[in-house]
Amino acid sequence: MSNRVDKETIVVKFGGSMLEDEKAITQAAGLVSDVVTKGIGIVVVVSAMKGVTDQLLGLSKKVNPEMDASLIDELISSGERTSARLMAGALSGHGIKSVLVDPDTPYWPIVTDNRHLDANPLIEASRMRAQERIMPLLKEGKVPVVCGFLGKTEDGKTTTLGRGGSDTTAVLLGNILDAKEVVLIKDVEGVYSSDPDKVRNPQFIESLNGEEAEMLAAGGAKFLHVKALRYQGWGIRIRVTSLDKLNAGTIIKGDLDSINLEIFPQGVSMITVVGLDQRKLESVSQLTKAVRADGGALLAMSLESTAAIFYVAGGKNVLDEVHNVLVGEAIGKAVSSFDGLSMITVKGTALETESGIIQRITQPLAREDINLYGIVTIRSSIRVFVSSNQAQKALDLLKEAMVVER
Ligand code: ASP
Ligand code: MG
Repeated sequence: MSNRVDKETIVVKFGGSMLEDEKAITQAAGLVSDVVTKGIGIVVVVSAMKGVTDQLLGLSKKVNPEMDASLIDELISSGERTSARLMAGALSGHGIKSVLVDPDTPYWPIVTDNRHLDANPLIEASRMRAQERIMPLLKEGKVPVVCGFLGKTEDGKTTTLGRGGSDTTAVLLGNILDAKEVVLIKDVEGVYSSDPDKVRNPQFIESLNGEEAEMLAAGGAKFLHVKALRYQGWGIRIRVTSLDKLNAGTIIKGDLDSINLEIFPQGVSMITVVGLDQRKLESVSQLTKAVRADGGALLAMSLESTAAIFYVAGGKNVLDEVHNVLVGEAIGKAVSSFDGLSMITVKGTALETESGIIQRITQPLAREDINLYGIVTIRSSIRVFVSSNQAQKALDLLKEAMVVER
């Protein structure tokens, strides 16, 4: 177990849009000062001032379009380094004792692999350093001011985590310091149901679970760096909010397990449709309705241009219902059904941090001659269909194959 500081700790990240100029930095420092006054421990994470990373990248292209990635990392890291110094300066103006944490100081906690420009933090190595180096600062009542976005390889090279990566820095620090909450301060009040520039009526969202947030971010929503949730850890809460609403905003709950495997409790049928007319596929919803009316549930589907496979649980006569909708409406030519299957779901953040997961699923099953009737993946969740009488064995094999250290 890590050793917590006695008082509550939060990690607060200021994005580049919140650090536009000296006035904005002073304002941000004011917020930090308010939190400190309330007796809450705080770790501050800063990104580069607005536009600075773009500007530095532009300059690098002009001096040499093929500049070495490790040198680019050194160059763009100066954006966050500058912000951190300005923030520390502004905090001391508020009478707050802060400690500058950049990759060249002895306090630096974030260890990464050596993929320059898109490095991945090594969680356990970073946890150890954070506990050894940052925790004592918090215990002394000081405010660590950490450069977001940056990392350091085991052999001392500066790396960056990918554009927008200071979110990931904050979330990772929250996790490895056992913080109560990670607050991401943005120029919007939280997360909206879609991009306000692209849809007509964006709605404010009060909370998202980890899986929803992960899928939205991976699918291109901009409120959170794609990698951030992989480092959230169980139980750590993320709040996306604006400067003046520290207790409001959108909450993202840390409910993604590192890895979780389970068998769906009902038997599953695999329904195959051939001669599918894609143009008429609005009827997927018709199909879902038909299956539901029959007492069943559509668990997953796999679509091709002229064929589809639906995985359905329950239902009195699902084949008849599906046939009725698809062939009856001339959407498909013929339909078959294969019963007696089970669905195993593999979920979790490890699916994103570990490579080769699909292989680790298929190989042990193949080795034991367990036939795969389908594998459907959506980001942080993989669904595997096997014969029901082999399901328990498959689950055991997968559990063995999926052991991940956390
Ligand atoms: N400054 C970096 C960027 O603009 C990281 C960040 O803003 O999170 O991509
Ligand atoms: Mg940014």
